[in-house]
Amino acid sequence: MALMAGVIRRLDEVVVNRIAAGEVIQRPANAIKEMLENCLDAKSTSIQVIVKEGGLKLIQIQDNGCGIRKEDLDIVCERFTTSKLQKFEDLASISTYGFRGEALASISHVAHVTVTTKTADAKCAYRASYCDGKLKAPPKPCAGNQGTQITVEDLFYNVTTRRKALKNPSEEYAKILEVVGRYAIHNSGISFSVKKQGDTVADVRTLSNATTVDNIRSIFGNAVSRELIEVGCEDGKLAFKMKGFITNANYSVKKCMFLLFINHRLVESTALRKAIETVYAAYLPKSTHPFLYLSLEIAPQNVDVNVHPTKHEVHFLHEDSILECVQQHIESKLLGSNSSRMYFTQTLIPGVECSSTEVVKSVASSSFTAKGTGDKVYAHQMVRTDSRDQKLDAFLQPINKPLSTGHTALTLDGGTGLSDGRSRQQDTEMEDLNDFDTMVAAQGDTVMTPEGKKESGRLTPETVPTRKRQWTDSDVEMKEDDTRKGMTAACTPKRRIINLTSVLTLQEEISSQAHASMQATCSSRWLFF
Ligand code: ADP
Ligand code: MG
Repeated sequence: MALMAGVIRRLDEVVVNRIAAGEVIQRPANAIKEMLENCLDAKSTSIQVIVKEGGLKLIQIQDNGCGIRKEDLDIVCERFTTSKLQKFEDLASISTYGFRGEALASISHVAHVTVTTKTADAKCAYRASYCDGKLKAPPKPCAGNQGTQITVEDLFYNVTTRRKALKNPSEEYAKILEVVGRYAIHNSGISFSVKKQGDTVADVRTLSNATTVDNIRSIFGNAVSRELIEVGCEDGKLAFKMKGFITNANYSVKKCMFLLFINHRLVESTALRKAIETVYAAYLPKSTHPFLYLSLEIAPQNVDVNVHPTKHEVHFLHEDSILECVQQHIESKLLGSNSSRMYFTQTLIPGVECSSTEVVKSVASSSFTAKGTGDKVYAHQMVRTDSRDQKLDAFLQPINKPLSTGHTALTLDGGTGLSDGRSRQQDTEMEDLNDFDTMVAAQGDTVMTPEGKKESGRLTPETVPTRKRQWTDSDVEMKEDDTRKGMTAACTPKRRIINLTSVLTLQEEISSQAHASMQATCSSRWLFF
């Protein structure tokens, strides 16, 4: 059968617009970003967002900007209608976020849009509703403050597949908070708020007199804001400026927080992220990351930012040189902030719950001043803090005389990245720890009798009475563990066999109540005595 050529037809305008709309607006957060940018372009100083069902049911954005003239209301939601750009040449010098006149049009093709607006010289506000870019009825006069309120209802009501893909409102809400939060940080001096409809408390809230750091604190918390270093550099030759706030080496999190604005647009740059992460790698614990807020201003002719509405990933001219410059600056700042470095403890026993982020001590401040403050028990109060107490060496066997060949597959990782989950046994670089493991395992599997003979098996409640009968000495006798005579004097352990009934009962009690995974790892005797 001969192949039949298809007939080419012109698509219906509504279909074209709906497809185009899907490119600009993919989820509620995109719509909010576009509308926020419109509020900022309108010179607003207060922007309030109310959301219902993650923005799928309702998005309402109210600003106090310049408003929209009544005469413009009939075309405001049409494609390519804008008050910001007139000639193509203007693009080179445009200072507004918008210029294409596509956002409101796109939204109105996939949702029900209502605009209520009042300009400074209008006597009253006007309200108008839109469908597929067209005004539904002539604008109605109404009461209203200066500025614009846009409501977007039933987003993607006519795009079933998209609607189905966005079935988790809380995920969408999180994205909305992320976008508004980031714009709020970048635009200190303007107050932002986001809340769910019906809630009294806002989930993002910044004040117009707050500083950038205040805003970072209110959005990302104190833990981030108290470790911030201000950064700023520029290079005339490369025609770029950079400023922002980054966390110092005391702060680290599992996921990198990188707020990047290039020429005031929220964008992503994988190259820049990687370049900065390499610098931090030398300062932060393995697989942890910093918080970064950077604002780059690059000569507009050198950037390809957001020309396409969905293009968040950007590239710019002289990228390598600019990255290097930023890297050097950040490195110098991190070095400079090193005087008060915090150290963190990590649990050596897998499976045991123990915060690995407790602050141990600050090098600069006099150590241990935190002792006894509040109810909190700091890690440093739980571990050996004086090297004179007892050396770890005391627990180690000379390498040529292993204490036991018991199982050493114990890993010390505990999620700290210390060993990447490998068995310590395989880690030849860390012999000390290997010995330590062997010792832990040996202690778990061997019981010393008063005669100094090794007895295999763990000290279980059933074996304790037998042993007690066997030991004829009084309960108070304590004997030196003589199995380690082969060690050098410096390594002589101070650990003893204790025959006190009270202690043995206590021991029994402890081992029956002990943490299961901890018990599996090493015997309670080793931990407590
Ligand atoms: P663009 O921002 O590219 O011009 P939009 O579709 O986002 O296109 O907006 C179209 C026009 O509507 C804008 O040029 C502006 O004149 C007007 N407008 C939209 N939102 C606001 C607002 N919040 N305040 C004042 N004017 C607005
Ligand atoms: Mg716009």
